[in-house]
Amino acid sequence: MAPPEALLLIDIDGKGRSCVLSGPNWLFWEEDVNQQKLLYLETFGCQMNVSDSEKITALMQGIGYGVTGEPKHADLILLNTCSIRAKAEQRVYGHLGRYKSLKAAKPGLLIGVGGCVAQQEGERLLAKLPFVNLVFGTHNLHLLQGMVLAAQKGKRCLETDFVDDEKRFDLFPGTATEGGVTRFVTVMQGCDNFCAYCIVPYVRGREISRSADKVLAEVERLSAAGVAEVTLLGQNVNSYGGRKPGEPDFADLLRQVAGVEGIKRLRFTTSHPKDISPELIECFATIPKLAPHIHLPAQSGSDRVLTLMNRGYTRGDYLAKVAALKAACPEIQVTGDMIVGFPGEDEEAFAQTLALMEEVGYADLFSFIYSARPGTKAADYADDTSRALKQERLERLQSAQKKTTLAKNRALEKSVQRVLVEGLGTSGDCLFGRTGGNRGTILNGDLSLSGRIVDVKIVEGLQTMLRGEICHV
Ligand code: SAM
Ligand code: SF4
Repeated sequence: MAPPEALLLIDIDGKGRSCVLSGPNWLFWEEDVNQQKLLYLETFGCQMNVSDSEKITALMQGIGYGVTGEPKHADLILLNTCSIRAKAEQRVYGHLGRYKSLKAAKPGLLIGVGGCVAQQEGERLLAKLPFVNLVFGTHNLHLLQGMVLAAQKGKRCLETDFVDDEKRFDLFPGTATEGGVTRFVTVMQGCDNFCAYCIVPYVRGREISRSADKVLAEVERLSAAGVAEVTLLGQNVNSYGGRKPGEPDFADLLRQVAGVEGIKRLRFTTSHPKDISPELIECFATIPKLAPHIHLPAQSGSDRVLTLMNRGYTRGDYLAKVAALKAACPEIQVTGDMIVGFPGEDEEAFAQTLALMEEVGYADLFSFIYSARPGTKAADYADDTSRALKQERLERLQSAQKKTTLAKNRALEKSVQRVLVEGLGTSGDCLFGRTGGNRGTILNGDLSLSGRIVDVKIVEGLQTMLRGEICHV
């Protein structure tokens, strides 16, 4: 009888390694047969999803999964999705198509979809995509471990119920301590604003604030684990709490969090201009740990468009709040979001947006072409602006902003900035940190400086970051 061409020997070395005996060579598999199962997690969208993904990773580690950066090595692929614009949603389907092919070659592979697309599509996703094993909504992270264990036994699972009271935060996993010297801490979830274009209230549910005690306990836990900077996170942090007598509002919460020993720097995002109170603006003058940066999306510079968007403020209100912020904290850096091509935006309205940008002098601006989202009010608005014109407006806006950003970065040359060192930069041979104004900065120095705030002389202001030299530790 002819010998087999190759012989598979399992656990050849007693350490779980297998090999293939073929000709004169022993070809060891790289994979370990006793190896733990691996998770590949892909995150789309905003900081809320980045923060949820950290929690998903910790939850999956809790049921024995390790983490891989390679989908082909994974036993479980989870996508934490975004549906803010149609393109973001389409990307999710594109990636799922690729994982379907992986699953064809590795039938045991489990695939799960969570986040905003999962919330929006729910059962339709399971029906449309037979290779998907589980679908979990934005309020269902606490069920995820059970869902994955059930999927391992062959069950297809769906959980998309909203939890619309404070219980949500008792169910909600806390921020994982591992993951660097800066962390997000969720202080509220959901949104009640119903801006005419926005799907968030439909996929993230009603606005609920987390109790200050729980926020503080989490920040204390993170600080004890060596975290130096926290960013208080929510869709609209400015409307945090303050609904019952004696309950802290957002300015109170900031003061309390700033009091946590070991926390060196504090940030928050995202702010809605209509909810920024004089007390909150005052915090930039009175809380030294509060970084001089605010992300304050205007969305448009035209009063007519702002009304159509249901934003609840005028151009004048917005500019008055920016002026008050600059008066309270002259070095404050303002960043924002802008939508172009909203239904009803004509050339004059767009010119007002450009003028507002110049007047504010944004350090950076995220700008998007309007995308109609299912179920939102604006999806029913008549829209007679061509895609080509919207694209042209976006390009005009972005090229104006690029110039402002570069000029602002160059203006920092020779200045000394307080930079919180976050760790190694992407190239691996220098450090990366952020100024108080949230400018990414590369610098030379020892990795042991991670978590420290150092004085850095800026030697070069580039388009997307600064380059500096440490002048005082
Ligand atoms: N809560 C934040 C606020 O009130 O400004 C916004 C959060 S949203 C996740 C991030 C940004 O996406 C928005 O500021 C807006 O500029 C943009 N956005 C939301 N819906 C959009 C849509 N339908 N089309 C284009 N951009 C959109
Ligand atoms: Fe969306 Fe408006 Fe809520 Fe921001 S405030 S999440 S833009 S509905």
